[in-house]
Amino acid sequence: MAERVRFLHCIDGERRPSIDGGVLDVAEPATGGIWAEVADGGTRDVDAAVAAANRAFPAWAATPADERARLLERLAAIVERDFEAFAAIESRDTGKPIALARRVDIPRAIANLRFFAAAATQFASESHAMGPRGINYTLRQPLGAVACISPWNLPLYLLTWKIAPALAAGCTVVAKPSEVTPASADRLGRAATEAGLPAGVLNLVHGRGATAGQALVEHPGIRAISFTGSTATGRAIAATAAPVFRKLSLELGGKNPFVVFADADLDAAVRTALAAAFTNQGQICLCGSRLIVERPILAAFRERFLAGLADWQPGDPVDPASRFGALVSAAHRDKVLGHIDLARDEGGTLLAGGHAVRLDGRCAGGWFVAPTVFEGLGPDARTNREEIFGPVVTLQGFDGPDEALALANASDYGLAASVFVRDIDVARRMAEGLETGIVWINCWMQRDLRTPFGGMKQSGVGREGGLEAMRFFTEPRNICIGSPA
Ligand code: NAD
Repeated sequence: MAERVRFLHCIDGERRPSIDGGVLDVAEPATGGIWAEVADGGTRDVDAAVAAANRAFPAWAATPADERARLLERLAAIVERDFEAFAAIESRDTGKPIALARRVDIPRAIANLRFFAAAATQFASESHAMGPRGINYTLRQPLGAVACISPWNLPLYLLTWKIAPALAAGCTVVAKPSEVTPASADRLGRAATEAGLPAGVLNLVHGRGATAGQALVEHPGIRAISFTGSTATGRAIAATAAPVFRKLSLELGGKNPFVVFADADLDAAVRTALAAAFTNQGQICLCGSRLIVERPILAAFRERFLAGLADWQPGDPVDPASRFGALVSAAHRDKVLGHIDLARDEGGTLLAGGHAVRLDGRCAGGWFVAPTVFEGLGPDARTNREEIFGPVVTLQGFDGPDEALALANASDYGLAASVFVRDIDVARRMAEGLETGIVWINCWMQRDLRTPFGGMKQSGVGREGGLEAMRFFTEPRNICIGSPA
């Protein structure tokens, strides 16, 4: 039997097992088998990582921005050199198609590192002249050791999205990747050492949220928490951080509307709606899971959308032709199937899917669920209100922009929305009326790393992206130099 791969913590520049020797199994979603084990961190591992990050902080904060940029560039170059290896482990660890890891996850991780390397050298702060009375300027100093906690759906993409701005801004980091998908973080830790990041600047502690994650957010040596994950976990972290006034950035769940008006380019709308619904098996916070279509084209949209499902059927993620892989865990598969049962119980009409899928051969034990479409559920149905985070979408009809806005905004979440429409006045009205942090008109998930990224309502607090992230990881201080009277 092949020896199991081992993923270890990266603390103070060293790869280390947990102090108490604890490990967790790491499964391959496409087969259901265990392929690796990961160190299960506890309070003492977190203590060691936070201490290392605080020891490394003064020298890293004093490192010139162009040197920090050079090291992040080198890290990006190593990920690029090892592109295929990163794509292969990301696909194996998450169940996502290798084609998606090659097209999105790994290129985006490299882009994150490069973008914030450049940002380090471009970050500037404001000054406010008061004429003869003097001048104010804003000093933006790095916060210190910060926590970066990330989920399993886009492991390397979201880990780099947090650590890159933190490091660029001059903070040191203790990152806690998801225990479900630790593989690419382990490899990134080794790449950081090879790139020459000084010991203690980037520390990675693996382990469960309730233990390693909780110990990290409670730690008095941490100055800020940047978290991406579920709304429930975000709420728990906020409750821990609030009494000690720890700075927080929360990127949480979504239940995103995808609105199609009758004048839209129907082919483009259907093609994009399918991608928005089923990319990464619907496990992206930005996925469009509520299809809201103007009634004159509802029948045509329905017919084409259902026909398009032929291109989104489960397949072995290692096959470069696969577009749709496995769900990340057995527990998550069961949660998604539970939502499908609920949609039936609520009276939804099943138009497609609605069941687990068993593939032949090596993937026979994998956690696959067919792309699923329900119709006939109103805005109050739990299926339309709760985040499923899987390949399940609903279809609703509307008449006119008022009803479109009412349906789209009938959600406690407010992350992203897509609108397909040609009428520019309607587009503007929708953009202004939608209660979401991101509005895509005639597109979905087109990202520009300079833009503010984040959600309204229960989708989060704060914004990542561009200079917003650099601002988050720095403390703005007002210095006023007055002229003697
Ligand atoms: P999760 O909240 O279960 O876990 C996220 C991370 O938090 C993991 O590393 C986990 O170990 C850790 N964690 C759990 N409990 C913790 C605690 N008490 N203290 C500290 N850390 C803790 O989320 P998940 O299931 O990994 O990811 C799916 C969720 O993430 C979905 O809700 C999805 O919408 C959301 N998400 C949001 C965005 C965004 O940008 N808004 C992006 C991707 C995913």
